Formats: sequence, C-alpha cells, structure tokens
Amino acid sequence: MEAKKKSLKRKPDNPGKTVKTVISAEERDKLTPDQILQDFLEGNERFRNNNLTHRDHSEQIRKSAFGQYPKAVVISCLDSRVPVEDVFDQGIGDVFVGRVAGNFVNDDLLGSLEFACKVAGAKLIIIMGHQHCGAIIGAINNVKLGNLTTTLSKIKPAIKMSQDYKGEMTSGNEEFVKLVSVNNVRHAISTIRTKSPILKEMEENGEIRIVGLFYTLTKGELIVID
Ligand SMILES: [Zn+2]
Repeated sequence: MEAKKKSLKRKPDNPGKTVKTVISAEERDKLTPDQILQDFLEGNERFRNNNLTHRDHSEQIRKSAFGQYPKAVVISCLDSRVPVEDVFDQGIGDVFVGRVAGNFVNDDLLGSLEFACKVAGAKLIIIMGHQHCGAIIGAINNVKLGNLTTTLSKIKPAIKMSQDYKGEMTSGNEEFVKLVSVNNVRHAISTIRTKSPILKEMEENGEIRIVGLFYTLTKGELIVID
C-alpha cells in the first residue's frame, strides 16, 4: 500500500530507466545555448517534483574518467541548501560548478569560466544567486571577520547598485536582500563582459549564452534575471 502511494506520487518521466552513459562531445556540440538552458530549467522542474533522473554512478564514473564535455558552467554560492547538480537534475560530466560565498566572479573564477567555455566547450554560463543568502546579509551588515571581510567586499558594488530602493535598506528586509542578490548577479555578469574579452566575444558570436538566475530556498524554483 505504502509503495503504491509512493509510485503514484513520483510519476517518473522514464519509469524504470537508469541513465548509464555520460554526454559525448558530439551530443554536446549539436546543442545550442538556448537548448541547454531549456534542459536545465526542465531539470529544475523534475527536481521540484521529486522526480530526479536515476543515474548509475558506477557506470558514469567509469565512462567519464578519461574525458569530459560539460554543457554548461554554473557559478553558485557556497550555501549548503543549493545542491547545484540536483537543482538542475544534471549528473557526472554534465556541468562545471564554481562556488564561492556570494557567487561573485574574480580573476580566478573568470579564468575558470574561460577554461570551461573556450577550452572545454561549455556553451552556457549561469550565475546563480539565492534567497536568504548569508553572504549578501553579511555584506549588508558590514560584517568584519578575518578573510571574510575581503570576500564580502566583493558584494559591496551590488549594495551600491541598490541605493535607489525606496524601503528599508537593512538585512531584516527580505525584499531588499533579494534586490541586492539580484543586483549581485547582474554585477557578476557585467564583470564577465568587461573583464573577459574572450567570453564577451564568444557571447557576441552566439557561441555561449550568459544567464542570471535567482534560486528560491522556499520552493526550489529558479527565477530568470533580466
Ligand atoms: Zn549564499
């Protein structure tokens, strides 16, 4: 009885099917950046519906050990509540992930993005901020603590970008915290375009797409940032 209830609830797309392969160069190269974004957003829908793709990790480890052809690269916050691969229902070999508290980009992450796209062939860059971000809250509160002070200073431009906000500009105001998070993603995207001529050119040529997303902890859903 219990098992029957569970199977009705899950409604898998491919009942009984387990993915045992990893993406090949040919499969990745025929996808457009828009198709990859669509794939990732559909993966998020499966994640929210408790319907993640079942993967044979042992097989995937074996098949991916000597090459990788990821479709995309995601820059995410450190936050433990944002399991990046699961959020998009992606598996081994599908996606590069760079993580830093506050999901900003610096020279090291720009180099990593250039590796992911120019060298390894990823076609989509996702900068993903999230709701209730401790790094954003810490930057708004002007927290000073060891090396974290320098880390949080990278979020200060997003606070400046949010100065036209009419309400209370404190970390206790969720609407303001969200605005700073969204502006922080916008700032990361503009930093990519100004500081990486390589990625800017790839974007202008349509070889890659750069997208900002805001992940909500309360629903697990993604909002596309314009
Ligand atoms: Zn965060």
